[in-house]
Amino acid sequence: MKMSQTPVIILPEGALRTTGRDAQRSNIMAAKAVAEAVRTTLGPRGMDKMLVDDLGDIVITNDGATIVEEMNVEHPAAKMVIEVAKTQDDEVGDGTTTAVVLTGEFLAKAEGLLDQGIHPTVISRGYRMAAKKAIEILNSTARKISLSDTKLLQEIAETAMTGKGAESHKELLSNVCVKAIQQVAESSDGRVSVDLENVQVQKKQGGMTTDSEMIEGLIIDKERVHSGMPKKVEGCKIALLDAAIEIKDTETDAEISITSPEQLQAFVAQEENMLKEMVDKVAATGANILFCQKGIDDLAQHFLNKAGIFAVRRVKKSDMEKLAKATGARVVTSVKEIEKADLGFAKTTEEVKISGDEMIFVRGCKNPKAVSVLIRGGTEHVIDEAERAINDALGGIAAAVEVGYVVAGGGAPETEVAQKLRKYADTVGGREQLAVNAFADAMEIIPRTLADSAGMDAIDTLVKLRAKHEEKEGKEYGVLVEKAKIENMWSKGVIEPLKIKTQAIQSASEAAELILRIDDVISTKSAKGGMPPGGMPPGGMPPGGMGMM
Ligand code: ADP
Ligand code: MG
Repeated sequence: MKMSQTPVIILPEGALRTTGRDAQRSNIMAAKAVAEAVRTTLGPRGMDKMLVDDLGDIVITNDGATIVEEMNVEHPAAKMVIEVAKTQDDEVGDGTTTAVVLTGEFLAKAEGLLDQGIHPTVISRGYRMAAKKAIEILNSTARKISLSDTKLLQEIAETAMTGKGAESHKELLSNVCVKAIQQVAESSDGRVSVDLENVQVQKKQGGMTTDSEMIEGLIIDKERVHSGMPKKVEGCKIALLDAAIEIKDTETDAEISITSPEQLQAFVAQEENMLKEMVDKVAATGANILFCQKGIDDLAQHFLNKAGIFAVRRVKKSDMEKLAKATGARVVTSVKEIEKADLGFAKTTEEVKISGDEMIFVRGCKNPKAVSVLIRGGTEHVIDEAERAINDALGGIAAAVEVGYVVAGGGAPETEVAQKLRKYADTVGGREQLAVNAFADAMEIIPRTLADSAGMDAIDTLVKLRAKHEEKEGKEYGVLVEKAKIENMWSKGVIEPLKIKTQAIQSASEAAELILRIDDVISTKSAKGGMPPGGMPPGGMPPGGMGMM
């Protein structure tokens, strides 16, 4: 018998390996589990998730990207699905749930084909063809939009915020977002570009969500260093300093021995002089505002006050960068080097008390593209969720004006794609046809989920939607969740940027293809806690086998 033969070991001890259908099944299961976890958050009636991490911190959210990120999954295939959400978030900033749910459904439908004995590479190929076609279909159903279509932009923002915690104030918040994007967008040769970095989102707990506003300029969450300084300065000449206005402690352990009172006085005077010189150096540039990234000595604060300079210390690096961009100032790293040419400009700098805390508003910056959105709200959770909704809306509006096309939402584009793909499938020969059809069926998970969430019969709804989409004017029909019926979503103002849809299909199908083609998972990651020295490999036999029974 060959049982006692020493096996050839090519993997390290403790390595785990799954192959063939087992590997596929486990990968698909993991990806589906991630999708299932976020599915119920989709759409206006989507539910929220409460996530608690190992430190007990709580996040309550409806945002797909946030959920999958906080889920902390271990399975490699599940991690790939999370990458899909991240890509969607980076590329568009909205549509993350859609992308994840689609990935899960593409795989679920592929599983059915695998069970019928269709080879994964055939499915992959069919999916790739279908994805390409789907994007063509979407492009042909999209409508044009421009930066001046304020009403449409407002609808895009509202659609993005629907179902989020901030929904009750979506009109006001959408308005803030539209104004912000219209302000920062740049158009040249008919092409619009939006640098979202120019929109600073600043949170301040307190007040109500309706107190949120857009400010032309920047908000720094700090206060001026000396109460003698004026609260408001007009015609600001702004210095940005990334150096402390302090006397450094000696770096070596030198000891200074002072033997007489005169010596002490001279020593103190010397320090005072050095601080005075630093302040004089700043004042000599003509600056009347100083933002310092490091500390400012008490005495220096006094000199700055006397010099009539409004000074702020320990400003965050990211805020310093934004200030530089907005005011045209250069961040100088040594007090000695600061020059007049390094200054930036703004109309006003003002310290304002908000819910008992001071914040500094720098308005009318040299660069008019610098705007801020100040988010207010009663609790941290409310503000955080409002921030996520605002980020979705900003991303959505930006994607819409940059690409210049939008589509109706509510599952209308997915239904249209499914319908047209089935027709396309008929023209595709071979087994790929089955894959294209599976892809089409998978697209309908979006209207199906929306119908579910509205308490409608999903099958019924799909049948009606398909019939509508056969009609000439029916391609924008989707699920109007609030009214639990099918409607023309465009006329109901449920509008989304084209890019949400194309990006979601693109990344979801790519991830699904990638996962499908894996038939061997080799994990050499050591099991938790490791193996006791000389002990058993997890669940296995000691090296060399058990020998004959
Ligand atoms: P995602 O993370 O994918 O953006 P959402 O929870 O934001 O997930 O849900 C987006 C889906 O909800 C889109 O398909 C969108 O068209 C749809 N939707 C948004 N508002 C409405 C509405 N009022 N009626 C029906 N569907 C809507
Ligand atoms: Mg959304």
